[in-house]
Amino acid sequence: GALARRSERRVDTICPYCGVGCAITVHVAEGRVLRVDGADGPANAGRLCVKGRFGLDYVHHPRRLTTPLLRRPGVPKDPALLLPGPDGRVNEDAWWAQFRPATWEEALDAAAAGLARVRDAAWAAGVHGRAMPVAGFGSAKGSNEEAYLFQKLIRSAFRTHNVDHCTRLCHASSVAALMEAIGSGAVSNPVRDCALADLIVVIGANPVQNHPVAATWIKNAVRRGARLVLIDPRRTELARVAWRTLTFTPGTDVALLNALLHVIVSEGLVNDAFVAARVQPGDLQALRAHLQAFTPEAMAPLCGIDAATLREVARAYATAPASLIFWGMGVAQHSHGTDNARALIALALLTGQIGRPGTGLHPLRGQNNVQGASDAGLIPMVLPDYHRVTDPAHRAVAEAAWGLPAGFLPAEPGLTVVEILHAAAEGRIRAMLIQGENPAMSDPDAAHARAGLARLEHLVVSDLFLTETAALADVVLPAAAWLEKTGTVTNTDRTVQLGRPVLSPPGQARADAWILEQLARRLGLNWHYDIDPLGGAPTADSGIGRVFDEMAGLMPALSGLRWQRLLRIGAITHPVPSADDPGHPVVFTERFPTPDGRAHLVPARLGAPAEPADSAYPYVLITGRQLEHWHTGAMTRRSAVLDALEPVPHVSLHPQTLQSLGVRVGERVCLRSRRGSVTAAVRADEAVPAGVAFLPFAYAEAAANLLTIAALDPVAKIAEVKYCAVAIEPVRAP
Ligand code: SF4
Repeated sequence: GALARRSERRVDTICPYCGVGCAITVHVAEGRVLRVDGADGPANAGRLCVKGRFGLDYVHHPRRLTTPLLRRPGVPKDPALLLPGPDGRVNEDAWWAQFRPATWEEALDAAAAGLARVRDAAWAAGVHGRAMPVAGFGSAKGSNEEAYLFQKLIRSAFRTHNVDHCTRLCHASSVAALMEAIGSGAVSNPVRDCALADLIVVIGANPVQNHPVAATWIKNAVRRGARLVLIDPRRTELARVAWRTLTFTPGTDVALLNALLHVIVSEGLVNDAFVAARVQPGDLQALRAHLQAFTPEAMAPLCGIDAATLREVARAYATAPASLIFWGMGVAQHSHGTDNARALIALALLTGQIGRPGTGLHPLRGQNNVQGASDAGLIPMVLPDYHRVTDPAHRAVAEAAWGLPAGFLPAEPGLTVVEILHAAAEGRIRAMLIQGENPAMSDPDAAHARAGLARLEHLVVSDLFLTETAALADVVLPAAAWLEKTGTVTNTDRTVQLGRPVLSPPGQARADAWILEQLARRLGLNWHYDIDPLGGAPTADSGIGRVFDEMAGLMPALSGLRWQRLLRIGAITHPVPSADDPGHPVVFTERFPTPDGRAHLVPARLGAPAEPADSAYPYVLITGRQLEHWHTGAMTRRSAVLDALEPVPHVSLHPQTLQSLGVRVGERVCLRSRRGSVTAAVRADEAVPAGVAFLPFAYAEAAANLLTIAALDPVAKIAEVKYCAVAIEPVRAP
């Protein structure tokens, strides 16, 4: 104790979990995290949730990867290894036994050689672009610099845009709808603007669990007098402070939202001055015609919300001096997710509830850096700053900046996450580089995804742990954790924040940016950032700084921000158009970033879930997160406090459903879909509607995505992980 106190250091950095992006002060001594305090950051002002405060000890977990690993010769990749045994546990020891330790030289050579072999054969056959049998998944948990380097590596070394990340599974549909309507996928107002809102809509999001500090700002706003409208199939915790709670039928978002829009256009609630000044001429008439059939009376039986409530909420949203909409995965993760988001955008545009403080559209970003990774171009359709790969001028800029021959970059977008794993299962993608993502757990129809990963001729994975995905790899590279490196991340508010190293990486673990530079050189690229393998300090001369400046130079949104300035200020909200610009928490105040500055109203079509419940599979499965566990659990399930709070998977069911199944709380049930089955203990939860099951996707021993369907939204290619049909049966001890 005394020794620890003497050598204690405090380092300011950013929480590695959710998109709120809380600033933290980490107290360390003797290479260990002692405790974490909230720092006075723009997103949190000292507040933290349980994950930020108690969830960082995963970095000390005894099963961190501390040396590169190579698959032992002749050991097959077997997805069955990932399934739980008769004792209900997965056998991680068997995963480790497939590998032998290797030196970095050996592992990097093997990693690059396997990727180059597949590439060179394809190039020799004249193949590149979308058909290139190589693909990469970068990560929204890495830094902006790592996301930037990752997409640059895949594009420059393989001549393909087959590069994506988990944004595809989260807000791809929101971004597609926002780009189409207002020319930008970014949020219009920060979370803390709810302090200025009179009415707040939270739809398809559960911020108390998934963006906890954001939820505290929303609750504060309600205490001050703002009215909260909660729209969700589950009666989540915010219902306790909501003015109106609309627990609607899962999958009927468009019916509900179009009914609200119908009220606005039919009751004279359109903000005519705003529409005349800021929306494409003719769009209102077309939308009005489209909405004719969507009367609240006609939609009420579909969505399960009575017409009077729909009218009341529409009037309140439209007439409040300032209304702000937050939405989450419940809106986005559907095969009609783009249409859901289109309807939300139309609400704001018709009523002029955007472009002022306290108004706007805020798709709550999940991962700590999903905004930044998307900004950096870790997406198959766009280069950094959302410059479309189909635009020859944008390709030419990137080619010149990256030292590539003119015409090198393909003109067609690459494959997306789910498409890549489909292609792998069919043998069309044969080699992959995956950094910090865990598609064996996170992707829909996991058995199919795992089969695709196992079929790859060559899979290179860099991560902190031997994840379910790494267990199917040929080469595993031990990565430094966020607390062990310098880099920037961009939160859900578009605030770019500097992260500083708190600890040294354990054993031979190395920073992902260094790994990418080493691979790039072995793949024939002339990269000389000289990135510090041990994460480095945030100094004027750091390799990460050189990457940041190159990236910012390609991004109009960051044109006024350079590494030197960021070192000085620590955080700023983009766009930052000039070197003395203070940043812009509220955007679209005068015009939208479309060619003529006007927005588009796009009618939302009524779609049905891809797989409705039927007599064979009579229940609806909703998957999601929970407060204590983050996504696939790679970090939080290795954090002592969080794992102690939620050690085993539970499926949440309404008490009525429990009764009809004849199951008591704590007993086990088997959930079965057309694609797979899992077993888990049941928990009673009145927030879940009768006939619906909620299962978090963090647990390998009950992997929710073994059940989900890979049906895709036709525009954004996001999968419908929020809705599929399942059967539920009690598991009785023999
Ligand atoms: Fe971390 Fe998000 Fe919790 Fe803040 S709200 S402490 S960013 S997990």
